Amino acid sequence: MTDRSAVPVPTDAAARRAVAPVVCYPVSTLPPAPMAMLSAARETIEKIDAVVVPPREGRTFRVPRGHFFRIVSIEGPQVGDLNLWNANDLKERFFSGKTRALHATHVTTGDRLWSNLPHLRPMATITHDTLGWYGFDEHGGGVHDVIGTRCDPYTHKLLSGGDDYHHCCHNNLTRALAGETGLSIRDAEPHVHDVLNVFMCTGFTRDTQQYFMKASPVRPGDFLEFFAEIDLIGALSACPGGDCGTVHSSDEARCHPLLVEIYRPDPASLADWTPPALNAYDFKA
Ligand SMILES: [Zn+2]
Repeated sequence: MTDRSAVPVPTDAAARRAVAPVVCYPVSTLPPAPMAMLSAARETIEKIDAVVVPPREGRTFRVPRGHFFRIVSIEGPQVGDLNLWNANDLKERFFSGKTRALHATHVTTGDRLWSNLPHLRPMATITHDTLGWYGFDEHGGGVHDVIGTRCDPYTHKLLSGGDDYHHCCHNNLTRALAGETGLSIRDAEPHVHDVLNVFMCTGFTRDTQQYFMKASPVRPGDFLEFFAEIDLIGALSACPGGDCGTVHSSDEARCHPLLVEIYRPDPASLADWTPPALNAYDFKA
């Protein structure tokens, strides 16, 4: 258990704590997302494909670069755990930690989903969020976090005293990727990574800074929309926690399906768009 009581408090503790924070990564010098162009492009979109993710299951989808995709709430409040890979190289994948460091604990319109090192480029840009109004609530909770990891059967095994549950988001994402690529479960599993928790309402408790969840404010019809900056394979799990208001990693919570929609814009609307190049840093050994 966490225990800070064993160390003495120094006499200048208050002064040390009073030092003003600075933002680790000021993003004013990042190459900006072309939001005006994307706003115009999304006015021209036409739906070309859709995938339903059943409750407590995972499904994959493909999005060509320069297209949009939406994750849509249907039937009832439901959280989705999202993984993204470069469709042409699974080693390039979504980097939750750096996305959090660059943007915030929770993401919304204008934020980008960045890929892992050494690639570090935007994989997708969020172009619309019907839950953008939520902001941060009185508990410090927000929607669409990049602070959680994904529910997984290994953590559940430890916390439950030995129970096996086979439909954690980690299982669902692994099975979905294996089905998409032909990889075995064992070979697909290492490609599954920390997620974007779509629609999930989370934060850190004020007193102990522990990760908390509360019932998602998402309602049917809400959606989170992305612009694919590179060719993508996505995997989405309809979390066994349902709206994540009580428990996860079990069959207890009421769960609903999620919908993924793929949209093609008028190519003329992106005539001035240049896809992001791989990161230019040259690591000289
Ligand atoms: Zn989950």
